[in-house]
Amino acid sequence: MTTVLERPITFDSVLVTVAAIEDLSPHLRRVTFVAPRLADVVPAGPDQRIKVLLTPPNGGELRLPVGSEWFAQWCAMPADERFVMRTYTIRALRPAVAELDIEFVLHGVNGPASAWVSTATVGDEVGLIVPFAVDTTSTRGLLQSGVDYVPPATSRHRLLVADETALPAVATILEQLPVDVHATVFVQVPDARDIRPLPTPGTADVTWITDGWLPAALKSTALRPDVDFAWVAGESSMIKTVRRHLVNTVGLPKANISFQGYWKRGEAQI
Ligand SMILES: Cc1cc2nc3c(=O)[nH]c(=O)nc-3n(C[C@H](O)[C@H](O)[C@H](O)COP(=O)(O)OP(=O)(O)OC[C@H]3O[C@@H](n4cnc5c(N)ncnc54)[C@H](O)[C@@H]3O)c2cc1C
Repeated sequence: MTTVLERPITFDSVLVTVAAIEDLSPHLRRVTFVAPRLADVVPAGPDQRIKVLLTPPNGGELRLPVGSEWFAQWCAMPADERFVMRTYTIRALRPAVAELDIEFVLHGVNGPASAWVSTATVGDEVGLIVPFAVDTTSTRGLLQSGVDYVPPATSRHRLLVADETALPAVATILEQLPVDVHATVFVQVPDARDIRPLPTPGTADVTWITDGWLPAALKSTALRPDVDFAWVAGESSMIKTVRRHLVNTVGLPKANISFQGYWKRGEAQI
């Protein structure tokens, strides 16, 4: 995957078609999307967040916004005409064939994105908001790039903590880990059959949690003292508990912890 770090990027919407669907495990389904413009997508990092756009609640047409002011356009629409929007991660990008993969968690049909993916078929169309060309005039920097995994250049030992929604990002982070960097990884998945290999050119110790509470597993593990950066993503209460532990007990500086709520129990997320 091409990566452009430390430079702002612009986002735009694109209508994409489902080209393939594969169940990776009981709770993770990979969907491959295709559209000519996907050849020009430029991710800013391995946990690049994007938006999936689905038809509005009133059952109307999916009307895509145009250009970088897409969010203002969305806010200006009447609520029941707004396309439904959910946040996902680019899992893989193949510019040569204009394809992009997302790995969706199958958590039931109580959310529009999970419901959509549970019945999606090849040929279906959705919208995506994805990063395109580098915007050399922007002063927004990485803060607006949709990337949260930005370890300091000197970092040699990283901690990655994730649940199943952040497993796609962890897989890409590990695939892109430099050879001289070590990662200690904790991943919670709903089922032992969701465990999968996580190849890396660096080195990694991976602890899978299939029952119980991830923070408890983390707290009962003596972390290497040279951990210098932590990336924590997943359910909101889990990530807050983990961050508190890393700050108060492990003594990691707050500035060296990136933590992101990927979903909140009982609440819809855009
Ligand atoms: C930066 C970022 C990157 C993300 N990347 C991915 C990704 O690559 N793959 C992925 O699957 N998700 C990812 N997510 C999480 C995804 O956006 C949420 O799970 C989202 O709520 C799914 O939308 P929905 O329409 O299915 O459910 P919503 O309408 O948002 O929620 C409906 C109900 O489902 C519950 N719910 C939501 N997610 C889960 C879950 N995983 N397990 C159990 N209950 C849940 C909510 O609490 C709510 O009660 C990411 C989130 C962020 C912020």
